[in-house]
Amino acid sequence: MSIESLKHTVKELNGGGMVMILDTGAVIGPESQAMIQALHSRSTGGVKHHLEILAKKGAENFMANFYVGYGHKSIGDCGTITLFIEGISMLAAKAIQDWALYSGQEASTRYVDFSKQAFIDPVGSKESNEILENWRQFYLDSRAPVEAHLKEQFPIQEGETEKIYDKAISARGFDILRGFLPAGASTNIAWHSNMRQVADKLALLRHHPLEEVKHIADKIQEALLESYPSSFSHEIFETTENYNHQWMNEDYYFTHEAYPKTSILYNGIDTELLKTHKKVLEARPFKTEIPKFVAQTGMVQFGFMLDFGSFRDIQRHRAVTQRMPLLTTEHGLEQFYLDSLPEDVRKKAGEIVASQEEKIKKLKLEPETAQYYTAMGYNLPNRIAGDLPALVYLVELRATRFVHPTLQKRAIEMANILEKEFGSYGLKLYLDEDPGRFDVKRGEHDIVMK
Ligand SMILES: Cc1cc2nc3c(=O)[nH]c(=O)nc-3n(C[C@H](O)[C@H](O)[C@H](O)COP(=O)(O)OP(=O)(O)OC[C@H]3O[C@@H](n4cnc5c(N)ncnc54)[C@H](O)[C@@H]3O)c2cc1C
Repeated sequence: MSIESLKHTVKELNGGGMVMILDTGAVIGPESQAMIQALHSRSTGGVKHHLEILAKKGAENFMANFYVGYGHKSIGDCGTITLFIEGISMLAAKAIQDWALYSGQEASTRYVDFSKQAFIDPVGSKESNEILENWRQFYLDSRAPVEAHLKEQFPIQEGETEKIYDKAISARGFDILRGFLPAGASTNIAWHSNMRQVADKLALLRHHPLEEVKHIADKIQEALLESYPSSFSHEIFETTENYNHQWMNEDYYFTHEAYPKTSILYNGIDTELLKTHKKVLEARPFKTEIPKFVAQTGMVQFGFMLDFGSFRDIQRHRAVTQRMPLLTTEHGLEQFYLDSLPEDVRKKAGEIVASQEEKIKKLKLEPETAQYYTAMGYNLPNRIAGDLPALVYLVELRATRFVHPTLQKRAIEMANILEKEFGSYGLKLYLDEDPGRFDVKRGEHDIVMK
């Protein structure tokens, strides 16, 4: 079977995007895989026998009866599908990724020029479009002066190749300018998931406060019913729907007064139990995870301010539990984005930020909708809770020189607090010794076909 002959299921989204369910052309597709695994639970005939049954009967009836019909949800864990969701806002991408079992990839604001992307404009008025286009113009106009300014600060060193150096400069420039991109900027994501998680996640997305997200959820559901009608026709229970609708619309977004500094909001670690893991904590080598059983010692809850651009990155750490911050201008633009600009551009940035804030106010929108017009560099209160293995993984990964500076700063602060609190119990962290260094290896992190 050729790639061209595959029959992917595609649904267009209002506003130009699309959702696609990938047809891999597999002879044993996700439903068949789930079926032959499920047959293990009721017979000891072995997989060779199950394959014979699959060949005779196919998987459709099996999934309709045993997975959807009898509600054996774990059968849905046994088959995976891949969805591509394109031309959606940053807000919609975050909504889909807000899931402890999300696997997938998203376009990087570090390596992709977002000035060419469409912007999602739910209001659709002349005034709302003007706000989005003002951000675009600033992003476009600032690229060359920001790169020139970076080259002055970080001149090419002996032994560095020009191509990689230029890429590293451009990545650093994008890191700065993403602060001025509105969250309505469109992006593309891939979502690889087992079938059960897709159904469970859609059950929430269809009640999301944003119309765009509800629309995407509906289109994904339509596409799934076309590709796998036997596996996605679950009965809908009104009480469950009402419950999900209520909390998604009243409690989903996190707002809080500003946290004055990064700190532990709640320390739930059972230190008596932690003492028993001293050897395991002390013996852990570099780039190695702490065994998950240490999570039994409890959770630590951190509070800190972080801009939405960097929230997009930290949110991908699925082993910690995070809230979705409501993107507002209330807490001001993160200073890093202004301080990193050359002086003349910084002056323009100050002016545009003030005038855009006024323009957004004048639209008199619900706070959820105003997010589309708000730049991603605004600081927001964030609260995360996690066990020690999850937090240690996060801070070690995010405290390196290759991570966006605003997130790197928070990761280092959390790392220092963790070491202070739990160092005497054997916890040690492996942190970048020179996190502020401009390392051209950043230019090698792009993913390009040779
Ligand atoms: C420099 C850099 C650039 C990046 N660029 C991109 C990019 O361009 N596009 C993109 O899409 N992503 C990008 N990422 C994100 C990255 O791919 C990860 O998704 C993100 O860093 C989260 O880390 P993780 O998936 O490794 O582990 P985590 O989700 O933090 O998990 C930590 C550990 O816990 C386990 N775990 C995961 N979930 C759970 C759970 N629910 N319960 C218990 N354990 C769990 C994991 O297997 C892992 O062992 C980038 C990351 C970095 C550091």
